[in-house]
Amino acid sequence: MFWYNGDMKRVMPFALCALAAGCALVSGTDNSTLKLAVRGKQAAYTIVIPEAASPSQKYAAEELRDFTEQTTGVKLPIVTDAEPLPKKAILLGVTKYTDELAGRGKSAAEGLGTDGFRLLACPPHLLVVGAPDRGTLYGVYEVLERFAGCRWYSSWHSVVPKRESIEVPATIDDVQVPAFAMREPYWFDVKHHPEFAARLRVQVSRSPSEEKYGGCAFRFGGGLSSCHTFEKLLSPGKYFDEHPEYFSMVKGERLKKRSQLCLTNPDVLRIVTSNVLERIRSDPGAKFYGVSQNDWYNYCECPSCKAVDDEEESHAGTMIRFVNAVAEAVEKEFPNAIIETLAYQYTRKPPKKTRLRHNVVPCLCTIECDFSRPIPESPYGQNASFMADINGWKTQTDQLYVWDYTTDFSHYPMPFPNVYALQGNIKFFRDNNVKELFEQGAYQGRHADFAELKTWLLSKWMWNPELPMKPLLDDFFEGYYGKAAPYIRDYFEGIHMVQLSRSTSPDKPLLIFDDVSKSAASQTFLTHVADDCWRKALEAVKDDPATSYNVRMAAFSVDYLKLERLRPKLAEASDEEKAEAKSLAKSLLERMDEAKDIRLSENLKRHDAILKAWRALAAP
Ligand SMILES: [Zn+2]
Repeated sequence: MFWYNGDMKRVMPFALCALAAGCALVSGTDNSTLKLAVRGKQAAYTIVIPEAASPSQKYAAEELRDFTEQTTGVKLPIVTDAEPLPKKAILLGVTKYTDELAGRGKSAAEGLGTDGFRLLACPPHLLVVGAPDRGTLYGVYEVLERFAGCRWYSSWHSVVPKRESIEVPATIDDVQVPAFAMREPYWFDVKHHPEFAARLRVQVSRSPSEEKYGGCAFRFGGGLSSCHTFEKLLSPGKYFDEHPEYFSMVKGERLKKRSQLCLTNPDVLRIVTSNVLERIRSDPGAKFYGVSQNDWYNYCECPSCKAVDDEEESHAGTMIRFVNAVAEAVEKEFPNAIIETLAYQYTRKPPKKTRLRHNVVPCLCTIECDFSRPIPESPYGQNASFMADINGWKTQTDQLYVWDYTTDFSHYPMPFPNVYALQGNIKFFRDNNVKELFEQGAYQGRHADFAELKTWLLSKWMWNPELPMKPLLDDFFEGYYGKAAPYIRDYFEGIHMVQLSRSTSPDKPLLIFDDVSKSAASQTFLTHVADDCWRKALEAVKDDPATSYNVRMAAFSVDYLKLERLRPKLAEASDEEKAEAKSLAKSLLERMDEAKDIRLSENLKRHDAILKAWRALAAP
């Protein structure tokens, strides 16, 4: 994997490029740019795709044509390479003309993989070289973002500027290959809008999209998702009464409820293997099949399991020996299937002796960490132990998968100032051999705390972790919040500073199940900083419906915190506080009606309970 900075740092001198590329120089007065479209003029360029273009390459051509037209009013024709090479062409993918124009004695697509691309000017032509899978489409989005100024901030908020022309430097030779093979910001908007996910150059393994949007190369098959499949593979309901010995022994007793499996029992291995095989046979094309612990502790302490775990100095000992054995059997029939398992909570520490089979991928989870700052920079003890664990896993596989957490799951809307951790963590994962990165956020509803910003930033950094933060923040705030940007930025910086200073103490981490009582936003901060910022922000955009919606929904976060702090104290509250609570409840409920898909907590019972309380408060 390699990366060349997107901002034309890798630019060859024009003459050298032309010579090396074997391209003819254009005659004319201004050779410095390729003018792909000029407002008010006839289309000079033609988009050329391979005759056997993939669905995503055909879609790439349509996206380029449509956004170019929206930007400049010029509609570029699309043809295939069955036609003669047009006088001026934008060649997508690898057409029959591409290699000769690129003139390097090798395929122009070499080294790009499935997702990378190369923008290469061969005046008067522009090559957008990429694989049929996704690379070509992503190359087109690079052209549109960088040279046409298009931005896709959320599924409902894009910026497509009106321009006089779209011009690409006639010297460009830019190669980009993403830092991670799998890039998945698991947030609501991406999950439910595959066209938006494609524009962010990410994939969603849990709701795979059509081929034209890039499909999904990281799908989990056979109903065996990336987490917690033991109950599916050997159900206590079916087996426990006759075979309690299949299930975990905890404090001397076999558990029926909230149990794990007894992983050293040969019958358990036989049944699970047979069920895994059956599920793969029913859905053989997927990349992964998950064989993993249930979502609680209660690992088996029977003498046989305990002996293995003692020897391996980790409960991952029994787990990996078991999963390796399943994977060995699977490989005989499905040599390409990969068995994924969790390195999560009690299995996060790698076993001392056993090594992963080559067809086993561990999904290492950061659930215990402090997210106020990047993992290596936090004084919180769990962060140090996570770092020790990733060190143990990273040498055992070339496909390390990380499940990282980027929101507060108890209270999605609550301020969760983790943006200063995101980039550092993504760099940390890249530097530790992670190839598949799953960034779980508020996946059940929109407008969690800075949800749209976090989704956008994650996608940018999963592509290139080196992109500097400030220009990205400037870009998003201006594009998404419009005139409210400076005020929301003040609030954003303020709450992050408050959090960072609080979490310098090792006993005050930012955790993903924090309750409102743990929020770093003190009453003083809310009254003296936050209220003022949001009042000015709302005022600034009151005449612009698009940004006004974004600002109202972003302000949900602070209002949520205020109300949820007030609610438990209402019995002894002053009349003024009671009136404030009522007004907050009404305003929050109105916004929930307007946005439709707001979810307050991952836990549905908590979501419902909060809603019920708000409705009671707001009632006349
Ligand atoms: Zn056991």
